[in-house]
Parts: sequence; structure tokens; C-alpha cells
Amino acid sequence: MDLLAPISRNLIAPLWAKWEKSPYLSHYKRFLKTQYAPLETIRESQTAKMREIVTHAYRTCPFWRERFDSCSIKPSDIHQLEDLRQLPLLTKTDLRTRLDDMISTDYSDRSRLTRHETSGSTGVSVEVFSDEESDQFKRGAVLRSDEWTGWKLGERRALIWGNPQIRTNWKGKIRRFLLDRDYVYLDTLKMDEAAMSQFADALVAAPPSMLFGHAHSLYLFAGYIQAKRPNVKIRPHGILSTCMVLHDYERNLLEEVFQCRVVNRYGCEEVSLIACDCEKQEGLHVNTDALFVELMDFQGNPCPPEQPGRILVTDLCNRAMPMIRYEVGDTAVWAGKPCSCGRTLPLFSQIEGRVADYVMTNKGEYISGISLTENFACMVDGIAQLQIVQEEIDRFTFNIVKAPDFGESTLTRLTELVRKRFGNAAVYQCVFMDKIPQEKNGKYRFCISKVKKEFQ
Ligand SMILES: [Zn+2]
Repeated sequence: MDLLAPISRNLIAPLWAKWEKSPYLSHYKRFLKTQYAPLETIRESQTAKMREIVTHAYRTCPFWRERFDSCSIKPSDIHQLEDLRQLPLLTKTDLRTRLDDMISTDYSDRSRLTRHETSGSTGVSVEVFSDEESDQFKRGAVLRSDEWTGWKLGERRALIWGNPQIRTNWKGKIRRFLLDRDYVYLDTLKMDEAAMSQFADALVAAPPSMLFGHAHSLYLFAGYIQAKRPNVKIRPHGILSTCMVLHDYERNLLEEVFQCRVVNRYGCEEVSLIACDCEKQEGLHVNTDALFVELMDFQGNPCPPEQPGRILVTDLCNRAMPMIRYEVGDTAVWAGKPCSCGRTLPLFSQIEGRVADYVMTNKGEYISGISLTENFACMVDGIAQLQIVQEEIDRFTFNIVKAPDFGESTLTRLTELVRKRFGNAAVYQCVFMDKIPQEKNGKYRFCISKVKKEFQ
């Protein structure tokens, strides 16, 4: 029995929000209503926010002024959401090369902004800054979709995550215990049997209401429980799978082992939550309160339902670094019909996103490919794109697209990280290329392991 849950939800969370001066709970309460608003109302609200952000971007960001001018358009020419199509796509290369000019002059003090760094869906490291107001707005939207798992604010969560930003100071520890309730986590950079066993014990001792993690890491843990600890009963209300493609076979095993619903979430560091399954699991509802999402085919036309298209996101709230028509690097398909849950938020029937294998070390540790590539791409300067291939247990190939700041220090840093992650026995070669090749199906796999494993 989790006696702290109602206290955390009804007392600690509101008081904490007040102390932080955060309006996220009032946003959340409003979002509980907007998810059922008529589509016209949603569009009107998006249009008003889009026009405001476009005007702001033109007024305060040299990059956007230049871009609008080069297309001979003014913000006043953009009336409807469709008018955004006059602008070219915003690419990861734009983010890498024009960052300083993309940050609004109204927010020039970067110490007041949140910095997000990611290796993205193709192993490209990019940096994005967001303002506090936008962060709190999105926090409300994330909370709404978190609760679609059956978990409620205040209840315990267990995390399977890489590069965890674990709060270790006293304030952070109190917050984790009383508010976030993410009391236990399994590090996806080091998932050996001992770590998984310890994690399972912790979940039995204090059952979580939600299990949260990378799709493949959750799957790996489920495989471990099924094979090695079949008598252990872990029964959360729901599982939230995020960060990469959730395959049907993964969802099936998770539902079988943990006997609960698996909610699939899609998002990225640059703009946060993009879309999420609801309890009906008929598709992923787009986060229209914070974003305007387009799907575009390879000829540049908008996609009708049931046709896959490239995902373009216009962030309707981040004023610190306006993101207009940002190409995330994944594809999705519009469902073309509403969800039976009654929510009006538009629905993706399918996402084709990040694919990455697990790497197993000679010590029997499993390392999440997502976490690994993030870790390398973010910690080594001079790499524009990275793909890690594990040829044999101790032999790796790094396919690298050089960035302008590539140099001797890049290779030194890479060697250090290889030693740290894989030990002294690991050997590797670097292959330099102009671009990372796509798979036959058009997907990028940014971590490939050719090693046969026990759970996979
Ligand atoms: Zn729904």
C-alpha cells in the first residue's frame, strides 16, 4: 500500500508547485479539458500561438529574419497554419551551425534557459535551449499523457533509463522521494544480470504504479524476468515506453510479463513530447497544445491519412529558441479517424522512428544502443553523425561524419570513452564517411550489434 501517494498528489505536488512558482498543474488541469475540445477550437488556438511565435522569431532572431527575408516573406504573410509551407524546413545542420543566431535576443542570458542536448534519431548531436515558461507548459502536457498509463501523479514510478539526471543533492533527494516518486532506476548503460536482479527485488519490495523506459530496455528486462525470475510478480498499473520504436513483439512480451497496458510515447529532446498512446492504444495523440505537427512526403506535399511522411514540428511555446518546421528525422502516418476514447487530439496510427540494437560487453553487461550513441555523440566534440557497430564482443567500428570542429582531441576523447565503456580489451576502427547509410527500408540504425545475446 502506497500511503504517500494521495498525500504527494493532493498536498505535496500543489505546495511544491507554489514554492517553485510553477504553473504546470494549472496547465495540466486545462489540458484535461482541451483534449476533448472541438477540432476547430484546437486549430484556432494553434493558429494564434503560431502567429505570435513567428512574429517573435522574426523580431528577435537573426536566423529567422534572414530566412524570412531570403524567401521574401514577412510574418504578416502567414495567416493560417498552412502558410508555414512557404518556409523551408529547419534541419539539424541549421541547429548545429546557426545556434547563436537562433536564440532570441529577448533571452540572451543563457544561464536562465534550459539546455537540451541530444544525438537525435540519426546520431547527430544537436543543442537546443528553452525558456522556463515553455518548460512548465510542456510539463503539464507530459503529466496529462503520463496518466494515460493508469498511473496518477504522486504514485511511485520505476525508471529504466540511460544517462539519468539523478538528483543527488539533499533537495533533489527529497524531491525524488516526495514528488517525482521515481525511487528506483536501472541504468541502461549497465544492465547486467546482477543489476536487473537488484532492480526486480526493489520493485517487489515497493511496487511501482508505473514502469518507464526505453522500449528495448523494458523488453530486455521483461525477457530477463521471464527467463530467470519467472516467479517474481511485478504488476504496475501501466508501462510507459519511450525514446524509440516499440515493436509489437516487445509490447506483447511486456504485457504478458507485467500484465498491464503499455503506452507508447514519441518525443525528442528538442521539442519534448510529440505524441502518445492513450488507454485505448489505437494510435498516438499529438500534443497539439504545445506543437503544430505536419507530415510531409518527399516531394514536399502534405500527407493524406495512411501515407507515411516526414515529421515536421513547429514549437508553439518555446520563445527562447523558436523552432519552426523542424525536421525531427522520423516518419509517421496520420490515422485518418478519431480515437474511440473521445479525445479530439489528432492521431498518428504509426511511427517509424529510431532503431538501435543492444550492445553486450565481455562482462555480460547490456548497454542500450540509444544511450550509448547519445553518450558518445554528446561527449565527443567534432562528430556530426555517429553510428556504432559491434562486430564482435570486443571489436567495434565507429562510422563517423566529421563536424567542422573535428580534430586530434576528438580521437583522444573517443579512445577514453571506449576504454571507459568497454574496457582495455576493446579494439576499434573509425571509418569516416559523408553520411551514415540508411537501411533498405529507409530507417537509420545508429547502433548495430552483430553479437548473439541471451536476451534480445
Ligand atoms: Zn485515444
